[in-house]
Amino acid sequence: MTTSHAARLLDGTRLAGRIVDDCAARAASIHRQTGQAPCLATVLVGEDPASVTYVRMKQNRSEKAGIISRRITLPAATTTQELVGAITALSEDPGVHGILLQHPVAEHIDERAAFEAIAPEKDVDGVTMHSFAAMSFGLPGFQSCTPGGIMRLLAEYQVELAGKHAVVVGRSPILGKPAGMLLLDRDATVTYCHSRTVDLGSIVRQADVLVAAVGRPRFIHGDDIKPGAVVVDAGYNPGNVGDVDFESAAVRASLITPVPGGVGPMTIAVLLAQTVQAAAIQLGLEDH
Ligand code: NAP
Repeated sequence: MTTSHAARLLDGTRLAGRIVDDCAARAASIHRQTGQAPCLATVLVGEDPASVTYVRMKQNRSEKAGIISRRITLPAATTTQELVGAITALSEDPGVHGILLQHPVAEHIDERAAFEAIAPEKDVDGVTMHSFAAMSFGLPGFQSCTPGGIMRLLAEYQVELAGKHAVVVGRSPILGKPAGMLLLDRDATVTYCHSRTVDLGSIVRQADVLVAAVGRPRFIHGDDIKPGAVVVDAGYNPGNVGDVDFESAAVRASLITPVPGGVGPMTIAVLLAQTVQAAAIQLGLEDH
């Protein structure tokens, strides 16, 4: 990464490190008080190499934070009914405090039905309709991890959101849509863009805060960044490239996430923090 940019970095690695250290301390305290360590079950269907890597990464980080990780690997040919059955069993298992179904699952599976089999109190990845509704109403519940990580990063750098124009490019159920809801809850004026948006550049140019969640390498160029904007790049494309062209955007932005080292580590940190919180609630140490 060159130093030609004017923007300060939104350093996700550093903040995530602090959150994970805090999780480790809380997990140890839960273990001391109850004799049980927090347990995260990860469910992986098939052997997609990227998904296998993500699950392994999440398990390694969990174990380093003192969270037990239980891995359920199912064959690619698993049916919706079988997957729903496996997740329901985890939802009913008192030894499991959090459940993560690695997204995306094979196309023949009804992913929404599988997500909805996760008990709300164990939905530490924030993927169920219950979690989305609670988050949108500002009620207690677990946040979708990547949007939750973005909000913690913005808070850490004291980014003012009230009255600002936040533009979210992307509207997926686990990223773009919940990111917009959380920004709205913090009194930003939110615009969503997506594949049918007309003249996307003119909308992006109005953004005081831009969240890119598209899945297309260097899709947003610096020419479209408003001078002084805060740029959050959630994109993670092959070759460690984000959805924003970092070099040209960093010249105009005031704050910008690096890729990697921005949103990615925050996602895992929020997953661990929510797993520890779920365990504390289920083991009677904390209220909702
Ligand atoms: P997704 O489900 O494929 O959604 C992509 C969104 O981008 C959709 O809403 C789509 O619009 C929109 N889009 C696609 N092409 C567009 C275009 N030409 N113009 C405007 N909008 C366009 O992807 P996702 O799961 O949200 O992930 C987005 C990115 O974030 C990916 O790079 C992914 O790897 C990354 N990601 C990172 C993390 C992390 O931890 N850092 C976690 C999750 C995802 P339509 O709705 O109209 O199709």
